[in-house]
Amino acid sequence: MDRIDLHAHTSWSDGTCGVAEMFQRARQVGLSSLALTDHDTVAGWQELPAAVAASGVAAVPGIEVSAQHEGRSVHVLALLVDPDEATDLAREMRRAREARAQRARKMVELIAADHPVTWEDVQAQVAGETTVIGRPHIADALVSAGVVADRSAAFAEILRPSGPYYVPYYAPSPVTAVRAIRRAGGISIAAHPGSVTRDDDLPLSLLEEMVEAGLDGVEVDHREHDDAERARLRDFADRHGLLSTGGSDYHGSGKPNELGENLTAPEVLAAIEERGAGGTSVIRP
Ligand code: AMP
Ligand code: ZN
Ligand code: FE
Ligand code: FE
Repeated sequence: MDRIDLHAHTSWSDGTCGVAEMFQRARQVGLSSLALTDHDTVAGWQELPAAVAASGVAAVPGIEVSAQHEGRSVHVLALLVDPDEATDLAREMRRAREARAQRARKMVELIAADHPVTWEDVQAQVAGETTVIGRPHIADALVSAGVVADRSAAFAEILRPSGPYYVPYYAPSPVTAVRAIRRAGGISIAAHPGSVTRDDDLPLSLLEEMVEAGLDGVEVDHREHDDAERARLRDFADRHGLLSTGGSDYHGSGKPNELGENLTAPEVLAAIEERGAGGTSVIRP
């Protein structure tokens, strides 16, 4: 039985474990294929051939692209895109990474006025110079300083978008992201569209716009979707001829999500490979 998980993060962004370690764990939980989808970076892809060889688990090279619509964050999975630095997609992600770094500094400045945490404390939580920084790293610094118990508490109490410390950052519109992914030869999947800000669904009208721009699929099976949400999204995907995928959104010990807790059907991965042949390829053992 093929067990395919198409959404996972490592310490190249805000996951807590490395690529090799994650693929070992994938083997332990019986996965046959796993997509690496760090936020706004392909930096971790360089480790995939060795991780695949060591684990026997196939790798789907991917990215979780941060987009923004009317001030709220919208995530788009980009699978099998061409990693060339000259694509519009790569340019958008460079811009978003720089904006993320600035924004993290600003958020820490604001938080530091009320809580004992410094920029150095946050940097101590970041794996390396090219790590894509996000709120989870600030959360880890707050945990380490004893301000909150864990990442979830940090998000609930201090880092939430409606809170006093939240600072937005540059990100392309979802339509721009979908078009850029398509031009880079890859497959675009609306990530967890039922939990965009965790308290508000992504409107179906925005999904319709993304479909018109060339969206390939919807991540239906995700921890943050209940059964009714999954049914609604599966119906939307079927009506628009889109692929329905599933993934764990694994973040190591940073979140309770476990590898393989949501899966993608083998025929859906086959369709992704067929359509994504113009970008890059699945790496098989
Ligand atoms: P950012 O892109 O920096 O605004 O941060 C978004 C990241 O924070 C995403 O990767 C989410 O997985 C993570 N995140 C959002 N809410 C929570 C939460 N309640 N607990 C842990 N991580 C979260
Ligand atoms: Zn993340
Ligand atoms: Fe996401
Ligand atoms: Fe994610």
